[in-house]
Amino acid sequence: MSLAQKTAVITGSNSGIGLGVARALAGAGADVVLNSFTNDDADHALAASIGTEFGVNARYIQADMSKADQCRGLVEHAGACDILVNNAGIQHVAPIDKFPADKWDAIIAINLSSAFHTTAVALPLMRTAGWGRVVNIASAHGLTASPYKSAYIAAKHGVVGLTKTTALETAEESITCNAICPGYVLTPLVEKQIPATMDEYGLDRDAVIRDVLLSRQPSKEFATMEQIGGTTVFLASDAAAQITGTTISVDGGWTAL
Ligand code: NAD
Repeated sequence: MSLAQKTAVITGSNSGIGLGVARALAGAGADVVLNSFTNDDADHALAASIGTEFGVNARYIQADMSKADQCRGLVEHAGACDILVNNAGIQHVAPIDKFPADKWDAIIAINLSSAFHTTAVALPLMRTAGWGRVVNIASAHGLTASPYKSAYIAAKHGVVGLTKTTALETAEESITCNAICPGYVLTPLVEKQIPATMDEYGLDRDAVIRDVLLSRQPSKEFATMEQIGGTTVFLASDAAAQITGTTISVDGGWTAL
């Protein structure tokens, strides 16, 4: 599968799943635009290293996905956006009655509203190009719930709904929109949850991973960033041209339970 001549914009891609997706798309020949809210030399060096490794044009564009104008500005600044991957996301864990309102607002903005804003600017570019792919990184938590993650689960269910609507509005064009629903992937976002969970349950790291984090993941293995990247490349391929408005779970069987 060659994605040569295609430009992919991946939100939240200086680490974790977004970086894995950017690497997979670059590996398939796409030019890539990496993004996060920081503007460090390391961010630009990361993009340059991907460009060198895969022989593609790779850029880093700073934009804060909690801000509507910056979400829109990211796609405008990219100039082309054949493949849009809405990946930026944060997490906060607390019971609803103790959930800080500012954390709720930030999670809804970054995990859900940013995808609306980037898609709104990307679709006209895709229509002009006559081809497009929107891939939203939702979650198993876009299909099912757990306690203490109200904002994240509300946002991810919202992403699945936005995915369906985007697909219907583009159904007669050569544009598809789908959501990938990963189970647990060992990224910095998940790594940060481990110490608190060790304290909460009085368990060591291995027990937290197997008995808490992966308790609902029947395979008892993390999904990998490479697998999420590979699924994104598949959704961008011609083989997936009639797959639209749906979810693909990469969750070791979690949502089969
Ligand atoms: P991560 O923390 O490693 O990466 C998150 C990325 O988003 C980083 O690049 C970070 O810089 C960026 N980001 C955060 N706030 C931002 C902002 N305001 N503006 C721009 N970028 C911002 O986390 P991850 O695990 O790789 O998560 C990536 C996506 O995958 C998220 O949407 C997450 O909900 C989803 N996801 C993760 C898992 C998992 O187990 N790791 C499972 C299901 C879904």
